[in-house]
Amino acid sequence: MGLNKLIGQKSLVFQLKKLLSEGKLGHAYAFSGPEGMGKRTFALEFAADILCPFGKSDGCGCVSCRTFLEGTNPDFYEVISGKSSIGIDLIRALQEHAANRPAYGNKKVYFIDGADIMTVQAQNCLLKTLEEPPEYVVIILSAVNYESLLPTIRSRTVNFRMEPYSEDEIREIIRPLLPRNIEEPDFYIKFSRGILGNAVRMLEESSFRDLRLQIISFLRKPDDFSQIEKTRRILTENRDELPTVIDMIMSVYRDCLMVLMGIESGLINSDKKDIIKEIASTCSKRKLMDRLSALETIQRNFRYNINYQLGIDVLMLEIQEV
Ligand SMILES: [Zn+2]
Repeated sequence: MGLNKLIGQKSLVFQLKKLLSEGKLGHAYAFSGPEGMGKRTFALEFAADILCPFGKSDGCGCVSCRTFLEGTNPDFYEVISGKSSIGIDLIRALQEHAANRPAYGNKKVYFIDGADIMTVQAQNCLLKTLEEPPEYVVIILSAVNYESLLPTIRSRTVNFRMEPYSEDEIREIIRPLLPRNIEEPDFYIKFSRGILGNAVRMLEESSFRDLRLQIISFLRKPDDFSQIEKTRRILTENRDELPTVIDMIMSVYRDCLMVLMGIESGLINSDKKDIIKEIASTCSKRKLMDRLSALETIQRNFRYNINYQLGIDVLMLEIQEV
């Protein structure tokens, strides 16, 4: 356990360790950023380090560290909602728990994962604790939309925004997860665009690989009737994946553009270089740029939820158009 074992987010780890080593720990911290950035992991390791009375959770066998690992440390409390929001009752329960002094060390950590789904009443209730926290209480929040929290909460919280991971960091973190049959992890690393969880999910879900292979076959032969039908069926069956599919298509066209400009290193789809070259040979730079901008528009419209089937039709037409 502990911050020492974490890979990436170097400046964040540095700041957290400094807070601990200089004894300057405040009462409220937040980890914010998109899904898949490791907010929860960082929050938990930070909590473990805060709770260790010997200030060294790394390989520490003290009762606090040991019970933290087992999930039974009484000085750690996580708000678990199981619903689409966190209501005032859960915050009241937290406050009741916080009224008692720590059992092992001199701190208690309260973790609210997904704090941005707290209701306004819950936030106002939590505010009371933030305004006058017992000296041993540390509250840790995680949030995708940190800005959606009440300004009064934010003004009393130190927010750490998670930075995108570098390709090398993602490579190092996913190494133990790589299945044997993956011959080329580079695509997953580049395609995840610094969001660790994306790379992990793509590697773990074989359906993602199938989806990618189908999309590439389709882009290779956009006028082949059976490819069109197959792609249309897959898109209809995997509605949630559409933004990812559009990203995949854009990654192929961006690579084609690079190839036409004579750049062949650093392609996202480097494991499919031959196919990329083949597709590139059928397009002009102008056409690729038009297509990329059309795809960006389609992607944006999907976020605001236009008619799904219509969206698929527009997408297919855009790719087929010569
Ligand atoms: Zn310890």
